Amino acid sequence: MLLTSVTLTRVVTEAEERVQEVVAWFGSHARDLPWRSPDRTPWGVLVSEVMLQQTPVSRVQPIWLEWMTRWPTPADLATESSGEAVRAWGRLGYPRRAMRLHQCAVAIVEQHGGQVPRTHAELIALPGVGEYTAGAVLAFAYGEPALALDTNVRRVLHRLAGQSMPADHITHAERESAAAVLDTAIAMAATMELGALVCTSARPACEKCPVVERCQWRAAGYPANAPVRRSQKFEGTDRQCRGRIIGALRELPRALSRTELELVWHEPEQFGQCLDALVREGLVRREGEGFSL
Ligand code: SF4
Repeated sequence: MLLTSVTLTRVVTEAEERVQEVVAWFGSHARDLPWRSPDRTPWGVLVSEVMLQQTPVSRVQPIWLEWMTRWPTPADLATESSGEAVRAWGRLGYPRRAMRLHQCAVAIVEQHGGQVPRTHAELIALPGVGEYTAGAVLAFAYGEPALALDTNVRRVLHRLAGQSMPADHITHAERESAAAVLDTAIAMAATMELGALVCTSARPACEKCPVVERCQWRAAGYPANAPVRRSQKFEGTDRQCRGRIIGALRELPRALSRTELELVWHEPEQFGQCLDALVREGLVRREGEGFSL
């Protein structure tokens, strides 16, 4: 069916009104997070966004505070070894992110005079910075009307509009329609917060939702519209083995021999493959007969 310009205007206006109500709710319900404080820095926002990509806020917060105390600017981190960044990553998981942040700090110092850049093209050229992180830094550090479509934002927008949410990549059409309503940094932050605190994937707390009367998904009786979540097995995986190796190296301030390291894992072949991969990726360094971060 062709949308007339009048119909299109009405749809956008309704969506904008919903977002305005979410923004009003955000004013009194936003979590007091350190990377949102008035004295936040673009570097602090960038570090928080990378840490938050696959790790919940409660685990990120103490590590982020440690990082900001130790490395308040990209230049501070850039003078350290990447191994120190991996060590200070603690148990946030996916430690490749720590290495990428270190590379990012070096690139910011070498190419941008130590200042986190504020254009999309420059941000996305940094190591480990993708479409989402670039948008989040522009919006939350610089207040630009940039899109940062994470799962929470996508879920809220799709539910409000009564649409099913595809599990795979974000399409151009989805970006366009999100950009039409999320045209300020505060609208982006508010929608993200609603998805994180109220409109959660498994158990949306609709009784606390500021736009409950406007939600088309709820009005339709909650038809299935969330992407299928595949349960991810962790026990016995390469990810667990790699985590054990890095955890052992983090605990001691010296290189460990292969024999010492082998004690962390029960499957020798898998251990060897994981250790080789970590060395290849630069997360673990070979020191003569030993290994370190
Ligand atoms: Fe989400 Fe429920 Fe609010 Fe709809 S009414 S946006 S499903 S929390």
